Amino acid sequence: MSTAAPEIQKTARDGAFGNAVALSCRECGNRVELGPSYACPECFGPLEVAYDFPAITHEEIAAGPANIWRYKALLPVPTDIEQSPNTEPGFTRLLRADNLARELGIADLWVKDDSTNPTNSFKDRVVACALSAARELGAKVFACPSTGNLANAVAAAGARAGIRTVVFIPSNLEQPKQVNSAVFTDSLVAVEGNYDDVNKLAQEIAAEEEGWAFVNVNVRPFYAEGSKTLGYEIAEQLGWRLPDQIVIPVASGSQLTKVHKAFGELIELGLVEDKPYRIFGAQAEGCGPVATAYKAGVDAIRPVKPDTIAKSLAIGNPADGIYVLDIARATGGAVEQVTDDEIREGIVLLARTEGVFTETAGGTTTAVLKKLVETGQLDTSLETVIINTGHGLKTLDAVSGRVGPRATIPASYDAFEAAGLA
Ligand SMILES: *Cc1c(COP(=O)(O)O)cnc(C)c1O
Ligand SMILES: [Zn+2]
Repeated sequence: MSTAAPEIQKTARDGAFGNAVALSCRECGNRVELGPSYACPECFGPLEVAYDFPAITHEEIAAGPANIWRYKALLPVPTDIEQSPNTEPGFTRLLRADNLARELGIADLWVKDDSTNPTNSFKDRVVACALSAARELGAKVFACPSTGNLANAVAAAGARAGIRTVVFIPSNLEQPKQVNSAVFTDSLVAVEGNYDDVNKLAQEIAAEEEGWAFVNVNVRPFYAEGSKTLGYEIAEQLGWRLPDQIVIPVASGSQLTKVHKAFGELIELGLVEDKPYRIFGAQAEGCGPVATAYKAGVDAIRPVKPDTIAKSLAIGNPADGIYVLDIARATGGAVEQVTDDEIREGIVLLARTEGVFTETAGGTTTAVLKKLVETGQLDTSLETVIINTGHGLKTLDAVSGRVGPRATIPASYDAFEAAGLA
């Protein structure tokens, strides 16, 4: 098995990856050169970026731009990253959620609202890091298999960078997510099958074609690091403190594992005080392989065939699932799952209490938060953050049957009164 796409340059210019020094294997610790590799040549374990960080201060970070590049010293990107055209994602709002907190009986609750990123999901963060790596490695095509949001982010980032994009999606994807890609690229490819089929195809293409950077395949270690910025921002926006509890949606599990990595790095660098925190994962019952393994108390994740409205979370064989299990257990969190109906309720609940319109992934997270409270798994006296990872306008169909006009009336005062709205 080939673990790299040899056709992309292996050596990049000096400083191309900032303070990153190697790719290291999560399983055996083996180190390989920074490049388009994603699996350990010794044991096939996943590779992740290792760094040699200099001392970093709050002031240096605060002096940076209001986007993810304020944390560039902690990312595998060059020091002049701001000079390269990119979508400049991040530094999204951390909103106090007092109404939702009251509704659920939680003392202290925040929503990290990543729906306001350039293409309205957290995927802009990971794609910005993958784009930098693709550029530094001399890739000619910027590509991805996607459950929807990733394709939107790749297509937009490639357009800004002036690099050819080809994005692959399952053919049954929500129409708004298809349009949100196709508007940026002429090469949206709808594949007959589910995400796991699309992903398999992408792996084949990455191994065969020259110069293709698949953001979540052959440059995945760089891509994944982008999710750390969610963790950095939450800590910085809380006044350089870690929350006590955080609820994060799980598809491949990458985001959850990287928020944990980010918290650990901040502690290690002395940028926040060391303290215990609990990480909770949120899945849909129609695609809950990690939640199922968590409940069963087992370490192995049995892949499932996704069947849920939460399409952005519909990965039946999650690459980082086992690490999510480890982190949830080690931190005293949990991985919980909810039904499609609960997801729809979650979307409306967040909208009506906080004025935030989330997509099905955020509906899942909100509904899981509620379930964690109801089942006593979450400590309602502790400070809690939930992540809204995407915008509701992309999954309108999920709630269009549930919300709508309360009344349709003629344009007369009498009709208004008769409708009982006064
Ligand atoms: C991709 C995605 C996720 C989950 O990402 P993973 O890192 O694969 O677990 C969550 N929410 C939304 C909206 C997404 O698009
Ligand atoms: Zn290894």
